[in-house]
This record gives sequence, structure tokens and C-alpha cells, in this order.
Amino acid sequence: MPEAVVVGAGPGGLAAAAMLQRAGVETLVVDRADAVAAAWRGHYERLHLHTVRWLSHLPGYKIPRRYGKWVARDDVVRYLEDYAEHHRLDVKLQTEITRIDRDGDHWILRSPQRDLSATYVVVANGHNHTPDLPDWPGTFNGEVLHASAYRNATPYVGKDVVVVGSGNTGAEIALDLVETGAASVKVAIRTPPHIVFREQNGVVNPVFGVLFRYFPPRIFDPIARKLRDATVGDLTPLGLPAPAEGLLERVLRDDAIPLVDMGFLDALKAGRLSVIAAVVGFSGDEVLLADGTAITADAVIAATGYQRGLAPIVGHLGVLRADGRPRARGGHTEQHAPNLWFTGFTNPISGMFRELGIDAKKIARAVVRQRRSGLVDTLRVTAPRVIPGKEPVGR
Ligand SMILES: Cc1cc2nc3c(=O)[nH]c(=O)nc-3n(C[C@H](O)[C@H](O)[C@H](O)COP(=O)(O)OP(=O)(O)OC[C@H]3O[C@@H](n4cnc5c(N)ncnc54)[C@H](O)[C@@H]3O)c2cc1C
Repeated sequence: MPEAVVVGAGPGGLAAAAMLQRAGVETLVVDRADAVAAAWRGHYERLHLHTVRWLSHLPGYKIPRRYGKWVARDDVVRYLEDYAEHHRLDVKLQTEITRIDRDGDHWILRSPQRDLSATYVVVANGHNHTPDLPDWPGTFNGEVLHASAYRNATPYVGKDVVVVGSGNTGAEIALDLVETGAASVKVAIRTPPHIVFREQNGVVNPVFGVLFRYFPPRIFDPIARKLRDATVGDLTPLGLPAPAEGLLERVLRDDAIPLVDMGFLDALKAGRLSVIAAVVGFSGDEVLLADGTAITADAVIAATGYQRGLAPIVGHLGVLRADGRPRARGGHTEQHAPNLWFTGFTNPISGMFRELGIDAKKIARAVVRQRRSGLVDTLRVTAPRVIPGKEPVGR
């Protein structure tokens, strides 16, 4: 029986396992997939980290310099494979955890493969767990695809495509389609995004987010607004007015990190893609829009986000908020669910790889503290910051 079990062999789980192991805690990582970094293997081909390499290292083993400033998806996968090997992590694949239960002073991790037992459990099964495809009314003669199933633009050459969503995934898929030769690309946007540049005047993403991570929205947001006015400018004539809410306010409420521009704005300004109203339904060959208009299209690609997959696994333990996020994270654990940690269920402006590494160290420190003191119920719960009256709703 390992002392600790980490659920999920993505960057969050691997980092937590590496730090636990380094602290002398015998740790097993389990993943339902047949290889580590399953989420990254499944992402679209042109994806690069939009956080600069040197702010995306996981602890104890750096991303090699040869992978460049903006690390490509395949290199992220290679890095995570090497990371597991470097730390000699014990990873058990094809093992899905379906439920976690308390049994005396241990946790039982239920799995169709084999139940496991451990004193310490870290849940790292991913913020982007289950594709969230809206159930649009009506029937559509074309193809409807969630972005998680999109690999490249080849099947869409010469086709009219609608991309739904104003996040980074939607923007990058739209650009991929434009550059590869789709006949037309329209991006359906319900809520205009905040936009930042991946690199501007030598300042790379997410340096600004790291520096101002702990500032309250009332200080952060006016600065971000001024920066947007000076750099992005007024995109209202192109269908992208500046959002009414502040950048950080929206991150905290909706987990909606800003769109990191990697060419989307140039394509929009050059008329190579256009912004349309939100999709509300289908009718034959037509996509129906919120402004009452309709357009014909061959395919709709829904970059509409993901749901967290925590409720079936830990929902019965009373550790989740109404929006499905864990109440405790990082080095904090709940008194009634001691030694159960969560990592990776926020979407910070400072970059998630970076935060996963920070969480991993905090979890390992907390485990060591508890082992030394024998106290298991003394850690306090810190809920993620929320704006009063605006409970996060998730994506
Ligand atoms: C398209 C995209 C681009 C991103 N780009 C960046 C970026 O540039 N920089 C950045 O910092 N962050 C980025 N992120 C955010 C974040 O860093 C990644 O989503 C990262 O992979 C999160 O790591 P994780 O370990 O929490 O979850 P995941 O990588 O999703 O790993 C979760 C693992 O858990 C496994 N699993 C799930 N359920 C179970 C179960 N029940 N039992 C066992 N195993 C299970 C899965 O197979 C998976 O391997 C991006 C996210 C997306 C979606």
C-alpha cells in the first residue's frame, strides 16, 4: 500500500507526486489513460503553450531550452514523459478512480481495475475533464464537433466553418482554419473576451499575471483596462467591444482567462475571419444566431469549454462548492476530509503550469508537516477568492 496516491498523470498530478516522493512519501500515480499527459496528447496539433517556457517549468526538472520560448504540444508531452522518468515516478496506467471513500484513517480509492488504499490522496484529474457541448435546439445538416475532438484544419479546407467561443482554444482553431484554407471562418461570441498579447515590447505572457496575481480586481482591472486601450485598441466596429467587467473580475467569477492573441486580431482586422453573434440553434443547413439572423455553414466547432469531473468521485464527501470546484486547494485540506488534497481546479492568470508546481510543493510540505506532528485535522480551508455577490459559475 503506497502512503500517497495521486489521481491523474497530467502536469498537476506528476508535479504533486514528484514533490511528495522527494519529501520521502511513497507515492503511486494512477491514470485512466494508457500514457501520461493524456490531455496534452489529445489537444489540437498546432497548440503551443501560451505561457513562456521559463514560467511553465514544473518543480525539480526544467523544460529543456531547446523546446523554444513557446513550447509545442508534442514537446509538452515529451517533457511530461521525461519529467515522470526523471523523478522515477511510479505510474499505474489504465486505472480509473470512480469514487473515493473514507475508511478509518485511510482513503479507499474505488476502481473497476482494483481498489487502492492510502493515507494521503491528491486529486489531479483535471479542470478540463469532460467536454461541455451545448445542447442547441433544432437539427443541423452539417457537422458539429467539440474542440476537444479537433486535431487540424485539413477536413475543413474549402468549407464554411463557425467556431463557437471566445476563449484561447476557439481563437486558435479559428486561426488554424483561416491559415489552412477554410472557405470562410466566423467566430460566434456571446461575451467579448479580454485580450492580451502573448508578447508585447519584450514582456511575455504571463509576466503581468504573475506580478499582479494577488492584487484585488479594483486595482488590477483599471490597469489592465488602460493597457488594453493602449495596445489592443477599440475593436467595436469588428464586433469585439471591450468587456464591461474587469479582466480579473471575470477570471475570478467565471474562470475565464483572457484571450492570448497569437494572430487572431491580425486575421480579424484583415477580414480573414469575422465575429458573429452567439449560436442559439440550428435549422437544416442554417446556424441560428442570437441577433435573429441565420447563416449557412458546413461545420460548427464548439470551443465551449469543459466541466470538471469531480462530483462522481468526491461529491459525497462534502468537499465541493456549488459550482463543482473543490473548496480547499493546494496545501489546504478540509477538517472532515483530512489528507485529501486537490490541485489544478483553478484557472489563474499567472499560468496553470506554474501554479500546479506551487501547489505540488505546498501539498508535499503539508503532508510532511502532518506526518511529523501527527495532527491531521488542523489545516484550515481556504476557498478561492470570489467577488461578493458573484459566485463563480464555472465554464
Ligand atoms: C488547450 C489548452 C491549452 C492550455 N495551455 C496552457 C498554457 O499554455 N500554459 C498553462 O500554464 N496552462 C495551460 N493550460 C491549462 C493547464 O495547464 C492544462 O489544462 C493542464 O494540462 C492541467 O493539468 P492537470 O494535471 O490539472 O490536468 P490534466 O492535464 O487534464 O490531467 C488530468 C489527468 O487525469 C486523468 N484522469 C481523469 N479522470 C481520471 C480518473 N477518474 N481516474 C484516473 N485518472 C483520471 C486524465 O487521463 C489526465 O491524464 C491549457 C489548457 C488547455 C485545455
